[in-house]
Amino acid sequence: MPSVIAHYQEIALKGKNRAWFLQRLISNIQEMLEGIEGARVRTPMGRLEVKFGRDSDWPEVRARLSRVFGVANFSLAHRAPLDVEAIAEGIVQQLPEETVGSFRVTVRRADKQFPIPSPDIERAIGSRVQDARGWKVDLSHPAYVIWVEIVPGAAFYHFGKLPGPGGLPTGASGRVAVLLSGGIDSPVAAWRMMRRGCPATLIHFHSYPFLSRTSQDKARELAQVLTRFQLHSRLYLVPFGELQRQITVSVAGPLRVVVYRRMMMRIAERLARASKALALVTGDVVGQVASQTVENMSVISSATTMPILRPLIGMDKEEITAAAERLGTYAISIVPDEDCCTLFTPRHPATRARLPYIEGAERTLPIAEMVETAVANATVDHFRFPPRSDRQTAGRVPARGRGVSGPFDDRHLDEAK
Ligand code: ATP
Ligand code: MG
Repeated sequence: MPSVIAHYQEIALKGKNRAWFLQRLISNIQEMLEGIEGARVRTPMGRLEVKFGRDSDWPEVRARLSRVFGVANFSLAHRAPLDVEAIAEGIVQQLPEETVGSFRVTVRRADKQFPIPSPDIERAIGSRVQDARGWKVDLSHPAYVIWVEIVPGAAFYHFGKLPGPGGLPTGASGRVAVLLSGGIDSPVAAWRMMRRGCPATLIHFHSYPFLSRTSQDKARELAQVLTRFQLHSRLYLVPFGELQRQITVSVAGPLRVVVYRRMMMRIAERLARASKALALVTGDVVGQVASQTVENMSVISSATTMPILRPLIGMDKEEITAAAERLGTYAISIVPDEDCCTLFTPRHPATRARLPYIEGAERTLPIAEMVETAVANATVDHFRFPPRSDRQTAGRVPARGRGVSGPFDDRHLDEAK
């Protein structure tokens, strides 16, 4: 049975909470590998061993493990008995056919009970490899590295490390509510918070039936991609068109964008509290568009007492675009749509809104009632990875998760993690 040896970095540093973090990571890996035949996780001395069935689909296991937050790197490893000769023999059997430029053996002796020091093991295995293949040893710049890890009762060897996403295991930090537009930025903002261990509830404002359903479809697709990382997601779809229409009646054009955003914050705060989220998250970047000046962000923030986190605030568009491409949301985000930002939006919004003017404009509106109506009309979709219907198809790449749609109802809230 093949094994994966996975390493975690940051959670190793968490002192007294280490066992708790590790337990989260283990259960997240188990859940991520649901449907992979024989998948089991053990923790031999500061690393994780993930076992899975011989017939499992390694590319699928690899793809899934590369999305488990908290995993720093991982390798497909072979197991050998605790005997240098046996380890060397196993390695020689598994070496690639082609000649590599140079190599080295790197041994990590996690189990110090094993009596032979690492450099001695490295030399012994290195000379066996040289004899078998005639490869040149290069300790400082090897083209090929043979890794050996000694843990109690077994040795593992592997030939390369694959990167994990790093960060902290999902659930290790408090829940956040992400304002998810159909754009490029907010899915990246969601992913960055998720990577810090925050489960993310997703909230999308749409203008159906004033505009098409495209923005909702995009939000669902983005939620599916994000769910491939956090495994459970809830997406609130909030009708916003009627509210925008009401705002256009009494608020001057240049102030509207800020008033829309403040309404979004108030509604999002309500949904966030219902989901037990502790902060709101946006994809704002200083200076990217009119609503994202420091002045406007300050006025928008004052509509809620909940902290607003803006993880992309100092990033450039190119950096965010590259992150969206890696994450797999870019292709979805660039599909043209009409979201509520295109509805009733003036050509020249104010870039330096002042709070007294905004508050004056808002006094003409039944704010509490508008928030109430929007919250009452919100619907919620649930997403899960692996999708329920694909549970039995071990080792196959699952189809995208399907949301289960329904009106927003507090009774749903405890179902999702
Ligand atoms: P994005 O690419 O995330 O849409 P953007 O550069 O287009 O960002 P804005 O449209 O000003 O910028 O939106 C700023 C932030 O406000 C977004 O990142 C998102 O968090 C939130 N937001 C905007 N529109 C919506 C929406 N329709 N639903 C939910 N959140 C939204
Ligand atoms: Mg946008």
